[in-house]
Amino acid sequence: MAQILDGTPVRAQILASLKPRIEGLRRPPGLAVLLVGHNPASEIYVRNKIKACAELGIYSELLTPPESITTEELLETIEDLNRRADIDGILVQVPLPAQVDSRRVLEAVAPDKDADGFHPLNVGHLVAGRPGPRACTPAGIIELLKYYRVGIEGRRAVVLGRSDIVGKPMAFMLLHENATVTICHSRTSNLVEECRRADILVAAMGRPALVTSEYIAPGATVIDVGMNRITDLVEATRLGKAAEFERKGTALVGDVNPVDVARVASAYTPVPRGVGPLTIAMLMANTVALAERRACSA
Ligand code: NAP
Repeated sequence: MAQILDGTPVRAQILASLKPRIEGLRRPPGLAVLLVGHNPASEIYVRNKIKACAELGIYSELLTPPESITTEELLETIEDLNRRADIDGILVQVPLPAQVDSRRVLEAVAPDKDADGFHPLNVGHLVAGRPGPRACTPAGIIELLKYYRVGIEGRRAVVLGRSDIVGKPMAFMLLHENATVTICHSRTSNLVEECRRADILVAAMGRPALVTSEYIAPGATVIDVGMNRITDLVEATRLGKAAEFERKGTALVGDVNPVDVARVASAYTPVPRGVGPLTIAMLMANTVALAERRACSA
């Protein structure tokens, strides 16, 4: 029977390891979160991030400028946060409103306060294998693979998706762990064959249950990053999610068919409670590391 790679104990271990590091600092690490306007999904993510800070003893500050804010006004807010001595990490929740130049805003965050690891300088550090804040979701996946002792070195890893926040950083992190890495995307020919060669398959496309049994080599480890809400009862039932649908009126599915993966893989992350719990844990880890670095250089 396939092993379920539950993210919950991995998160607990990461957070427990941060507590003594936080206590060892002269002042609590500080994280500023910028949430523009009212996007319901973003509001839930941000609430969970703030809650995690409170539980760990990280100082957090939530800034909620109105939907109508301009790029220039946001840049000023970020400059203020860049200058503040009590703020170690800055997180700009995306998506930003259409009138805002998202790239300029994200790149205005000082690289040494970049809690998400998205700044081009930190992306460069990742590519070069140098220390620095890392994109949280892929960094959490590496922690999960290590926690469950899934060997990475010398294995063939296929990453489905090439986004800046998941697919690309995931590929580099697996490469630095000495996997042989292939990145696939919407223009990849022979997607099924590419995926079937994977010892470790990471699906990060945002396509509900696209990865079916023919994509998965028997015995592979499958990491499902996708978070897709389905609203069709027949589809939910086909994917073994009827009970959840009955309770909530919708069901959460990943990019991997949950029935097929349990049958074919040797190990896989469930949705929910697989990769999801790790993203916020790694945001906390980045914030603590940024605070430690600032404390050392002060
Ligand atoms: P994204 O920016 O939309 O990127 C999706 C990627 O998948 C793109 O590179 C796209 O290829 C590729 N793709 C789309 N359809 C494809 C297909 N049919 N065949 C092959 N490749 C395909 O998405 P993202 O931000 O990386 O997020 C991906 C998923 O992960 C989403 O469901 C998101 O909600 C979830 N997510 C979860 C967490 C978590 O904490 N659990 C964190 C972040 C994201 P092209 O580049 O060619 O368009």
